[in-house]
Amino acid sequence: MNVLRALIYDDQVSLTIIDTTKLVKDGLARHGLKGESADVFARTLSFLTYVSSCLKEETGEVSIALQTDGKLSTLSASGNTALAMRGYLAWDTEKTETIGDGALTIVRDDGYSRPFVGSCALVKGALDESFEEYYRISEQLPTEITTCFFENERGGVAFCGVIALQPLPFASQTTLEKLPDEKQRLATLKEVAKDGLFTVANRAFGVKEEDCHYKNAEYRCNCSREYLKGVLVSVGEKELRQIVKEDGAIHAHCHYCNTDYAFDEKDVDEMFQKE
Ligand SMILES: [Zn+2]
Repeated sequence: MNVLRALIYDDQVSLTIIDTTKLVKDGLARHGLKGESADVFARTLSFLTYVSSCLKEETGEVSIALQTDGKLSTLSASGNTALAMRGYLAWDTEKTETIGDGALTIVRDDGYSRPFVGSCALVKGALDESFEEYYRISEQLPTEITTCFFENERGGVAFCGVIALQPLPFASQTTLEKLPDEKQRLATLKEVAKDGLFTVANRAFGVKEEDCHYKNAEYRCNCSREYLKGVLVSVGEKELRQIVKEDGAIHAHCHYCNTDYAFDEKDVDEMFQKE
């Protein structure tokens, strides 16, 4: 289990610590990302794993979009209550700034009413501050968020994670004042690599085992041949047959998991099989 959630400080603050190392490793491998782009992708995916871990309903879904005029052109990622996470980004090496001016948008579907759409301007060059800005402006839930991403000497993922502290509306002033600052949060998060989630939560916040809620997050795309066939049907039989005739097959690409799909005449026959 790589997600730990617990109430701390007399149940006045919700604590979440997530070790996203494995998930991020899988995501980066899918897209062959390294260095700066890997850092942005890893930390955004970690943040989104936190947002997804807050979903209450079983059918909940959340997606994030970052758009900037810097090297990070766009980043799209999504997750669900089961914490199956996926995403992709477009990187423009011609630009000088990593994260330029831009916006962060989140669409959260809790599964029981209309999706909630929230948006905020990005804090230039600062991902964590942007994530916090989103919670303050759009959710009106001030939340302290720190993400981290460390590569090893070989350019692989050494550790990646996120820690978030969200005071509940009735949290007292005294409690708010004892929340760890950014430096302390990062130090706590880094210890997870060596000691694991529970030991760190226990040592830093006095969390007891019986008060912990665990979940498991992973990098997993929900695309499939069957799903894409369903989407293609809406293009129309005549058009699809024409494409097969001209190109030999219908090609589709899933950006999230970087997978190519090809559908031939037999597939089209199946799609439009009459009962
Ligand atoms: Zn996919």
